[in-house]
Amino acid sequence: MKVEEPKKQAAGIPAISSTFREIAEKTGWIRGLRLLRKLNQKGGIDCNACAWTDPEGDRTFAEFCENGVKAIADEAVRKKVDADFFAKYSVEELAQKSDKWLNEQGRLVQPLILREGKKHYEPISWEQAIHEIAKELNSLDSPDEAVFYTSGRTSNEAAFLYQLFVRQFGTNNLPDCSNMCHESSSVALTESLGFGKATIRLEDLENADLIIIMGQNPGTNAPRMMSHLRRAKEKGAKIIAVNPILEAGLLGFVDPNPQHYSSLLEYASTVWHDKPTKFADLYLQIRIGGDMAFLKGVMKTLFEWEKRSPSPIFSYDFIVNKTEGFQDFIANLEEISWEDILTQSGLSREQIEQVARMYARSSRVVTCWAMGITQHKKAVETIQDIVNLHLLRGNIGKPGAGLCPVRGHSNVQGDRTMGIWSKVPKFREQLEKRFRFKVPEKEGYSVTEAIKAMYEGKVKVFFALGGNFLSAAPDTEYTEKALRRCNLTAQVITKLNRTAVVTGKKALILPCLGRTERDFTGGKEQFVSTESTMLNVQMSKGILKPISDELRSEIWIIGKLARATLKGRSTVSWEAMISDYDLIRDAISKVVPGFENYNERIRKPGGFYLPNPPRQRIFPTDSGKAKFTVSKLEKIETAPDELLLTTIRAHDQFNTTVYTEDDRYRGISGSRNVIFMNKEDMAVRKLKQGDLVDVVSDFDGRRRVVEKLTVVAYPIAKGCAAMYFPEANPLIPIESVAEKSLCPTSKLVKVKVVRSRKR
Ligand code: SF4
Repeated sequence: MKVEEPKKQAAGIPAISSTFREIAEKTGWIRGLRLLRKLNQKGGIDCNACAWTDPEGDRTFAEFCENGVKAIADEAVRKKVDADFFAKYSVEELAQKSDKWLNEQGRLVQPLILREGKKHYEPISWEQAIHEIAKELNSLDSPDEAVFYTSGRTSNEAAFLYQLFVRQFGTNNLPDCSNMCHESSSVALTESLGFGKATIRLEDLENADLIIIMGQNPGTNAPRMMSHLRRAKEKGAKIIAVNPILEAGLLGFVDPNPQHYSSLLEYASTVWHDKPTKFADLYLQIRIGGDMAFLKGVMKTLFEWEKRSPSPIFSYDFIVNKTEGFQDFIANLEEISWEDILTQSGLSREQIEQVARMYARSSRVVTCWAMGITQHKKAVETIQDIVNLHLLRGNIGKPGAGLCPVRGHSNVQGDRTMGIWSKVPKFREQLEKRFRFKVPEKEGYSVTEAIKAMYEGKVKVFFALGGNFLSAAPDTEYTEKALRRCNLTAQVITKLNRTAVVTGKKALILPCLGRTERDFTGGKEQFVSTESTMLNVQMSKGILKPISDELRSEIWIIGKLARATLKGRSTVSWEAMISDYDLIRDAISKVVPGFENYNERIRKPGGFYLPNPPRQRIFPTDSGKAKFTVSKLEKIETAPDELLLTTIRAHDQFNTTVYTEDDRYRGISGSRNVIFMNKEDMAVRKLKQGDLVDVVSDFDGRRRVVEKLTVVAYPIAKGCAAMYFPEANPLIPIESVAEKSLCPTSKLVKVKVVRSRKR
């Protein structure tokens, strides 16, 4: 393991070389360059990593970032895991392997079954595999004894068909990865604005004069966002970064895309000399969990100034005509003490006033956020305070202003729009009318509820459409036990992961086509579609010959399973839907608002944008107005020997997929078993860089420990520490969730750091 100085800027030449290294090592040049030529191009392949939005106008030839290339190359490897591999390794042996090792074994190429009492997966025919699952589902006493999980890689068409199957089967048990990431954003925004998604487009980000980035690390998790931040900076925008950790992608950026420069000369001199665009004009290393206090401090300052200011700071015309709850909100704000605000935020009054000043001087403000905001106990109320701040000066529904929960998985938003939700979908009536059946009334399980239900034996079948549920979920040991208690666990995946080797009594692996591969289901070339963070719906079409003739599309698998499970009690012609995805889109047109003429519009270059009412200052709440909300400031107290731990991604990782053990921006190479600590906190504990420690979390009488982590001194807020996920997930209690959204609190766990006795 090597530790170097953290980087002070993102991308540049290292991103270019990393891109080419990925291609050279994983796909080969010809295959790789063919893929890059189509990646994020109109009518091309939609990146299977994050959900950043593609430009509306012309796209550059390199319309991707290095992490997008890593994700697409990781899928398009030529290496295969076949029957010999599974004959060689028992599931028990595979369960000892890391996610990284499992992923490196290559693409799955045929359906596999782990029979009850057996130690090895063995090949099985598709027909038999589908039959096994249908039999198990139909043997249940209730449809609610099955859970159907969705990862954000699933296309709109597959997601719609999946929810239709599951609801015709008789349950709303549709947990999805959004439950673990932006569920808090959906709940908060829907309550405050009547609309649970971003209210901006790229042009708004580029034309903002102030951009506030909270609890997000774009350098690794949405890298193309940085090109738009650069354009905004060039137009004079200011950026405020609010993050406990100093992140390279918030400090500066060297844009590696030559087409983003006015001349090759400018490009060469900038990139060659590594001249970054400086991002953060103000970088606040806030205390973990201190965001609500910070926001209340900014708004309290603005109100104190408002009272003394000759001209209004607040936009009263907007407040009066477009909002409600202002008076209660102000009364609540006045009750909160500055002492609590400063203690909880870990910031100074001066820092908070600086933000208030920059905000009051700006007329077009965009706030972006991610997991650093959503995975906390009070996440919903914190996000509503972001909304409150924006309502005060009407920074919603005007050019250059608005809200942007930055989605982390390519179609996580599209899946929810298609009805992947554990609650009764808003388009229930249209669905019942179109397919002549009754949608189940009973609310289903979200992710943490599903884990508990499996643990308690209430759920006997776990079916996953993509993803790596076990590694993404909190409380690893508990979740492992929950999965092992199922009669059947089954996954539709492209590559091996830990969820495939920590199984129920019986398990199936159903290998599907990747996004890079051509899909000739039904005898004709098919395409699918996705929805980006900013509501752009566009097609995605693979170009590569599938790595195995045994692979099937997600849609084929769902359709076949639905037919085999539901038989005569279904009202859907699954075979027809499988053979022509246009029929699925026709059904979506009739059921899901905003998708009228789907087939025609999706074939337009770049697809189309879904309606975004708040962007027109239309707030589909019960009152038709945006809502100011009130909330109590949460006091997060720690014992003298406790720290607040947050989980983070390394740069060479996408969600639970780990490409290497390096984290270039943070100066780490060769290990992921590290804990980033503040130097003062290390001194108090007589720890120095390189020491081995155990991290202990005590919650509700249960102790959780992760052992033998190497201490790394890092510019992180005092009293705070950070570890990589999924390595830190064993420390996150299943019971510790955000209020209302039930999102696991993966960004804040109280821990003790003790010298490790083990060597
Ligand atoms: S920014 Fe996100 S969507 Fe775009 S190429 Fe990178 S990982 Fe893919």
